[in-house]
Amino acid sequence: MTKRDYYEVLEVSKSADQAEIKKAYRRMARKCHPDVNKHDTEAEEKFKELNEAYEVLSDPEKRASYDQFGHAAFDKRSGGGYGFDGSGGFETQFGDVFDMFFSDMFGFGGRGTGAQRGGDLSYELTLSFEEAVFGTEKKIKIFRLDHCDACKGSGVEPGTNPSRCSTCGGRGQIQEIKRTIFGSFSSSYTCPTCEGRGEIILTPCHKCRGHGRVRVSQTISVQVPAGIVNGSRLKINGKGEAGIYGGPAGDLYVIIYVKSHKIFERIKNDLFCELPISFTQAVLGSEIDVSTLKGKEKIKIPAGTQAGTLFRIKGEGVPYLQGKGRGDLIVKVNVVIPTKLNSKQKEALIKFAEISGENIKNFSGESVLKKIKSVFE
Ligand SMILES: [Zn+2]
Ligand SMILES: [Zn+2]
Repeated sequence: MTKRDYYEVLEVSKSADQAEIKKAYRRMARKCHPDVNKHDTEAEEKFKELNEAYEVLSDPEKRASYDQFGHAAFDKRSGGGYGFDGSGGFETQFGDVFDMFFSDMFGFGGRGTGAQRGGDLSYELTLSFEEAVFGTEKKIKIFRLDHCDACKGSGVEPGTNPSRCSTCGGRGQIQEIKRTIFGSFSSSYTCPTCEGRGEIILTPCHKCRGHGRVRVSQTISVQVPAGIVNGSRLKINGKGEAGIYGGPAGDLYVIIYVKSHKIFERIKNDLFCELPISFTQAVLGSEIDVSTLKGKEKIKIPAGTQAGTLFRIKGEGVPYLQGKGRGDLIVKVNVVIPTKLNSKQKEALIKFAEISGENIKNFSGESVLKKIKSVFE
């Protein structure tokens, strides 16, 4: 699921101050609390999203890193920091946000188990022009947090057992009942002793020191589809950081950079290149070899071809990502004017001009010079 912008979630502007954010949060929380919206199956998700947004935007430090890096600011901190699954910061904040009448509504941490999804990772992969066009398989080496194999991710030293948390009696949550003149309200929050797990590790795993995850280097094979575009993102499910205490793993995003080509330029699925031909080839017509990405193709240049004429070679472009077929190769004719002529070539050209009825005087060096001078006088 792609995450919505936190400012959007709270319906505040990017420049909103803390008071506005707090106000917006209270308003939205009343509106979308799952206990108020029992008929709405998405309410719980929406409410979580709202809390997540508030947790970040109400904290100046988190807000600053969110402004700078967006959601990525928190993805990378999977190892610790920000527990968004009802297991962390929000509970400690609501006291100052809500009066007692609302506190019952926000006993939301009740479903936390200490499990957290692992963070997403990204990797920048540079491809040659041809690799992007034809597709390839690449092996990349990444560093990621993986489940500790010694304790199978539990964090508990093999052969020992965790003990039940006495603070919460193993429930991971602590329930509080408040009696007011309006009746009793119950709220629950994540147990601070066991952080929602319900158990305490007495002997942490020697390998991961109780974290359940260890940093490993892994080689992953990435299938790059033919026709991929520069700047694309390939998502590899479950190859981000391992989850914490049974949470699902994050994903790996491979960001594709495609190198440019000496000859070809790519626009969507067509390739473009320039074809230098001689003056005589253009005038008399010719059959010319054109380089394609795969080899060579012959094209017929008809007599009298003008500079800048485009020729299309069907199906020699870039394959379509989804579906069959390829784009075309478009060749632009560039007539090369010779810069050095020997006396024989010059003679022949003057003769050609004479026969064409052109004024020969214009071809002598002197008269050309005069002509240029006269322009500046
Ligand atoms: Zn371990
Ligand atoms: Zn506990």
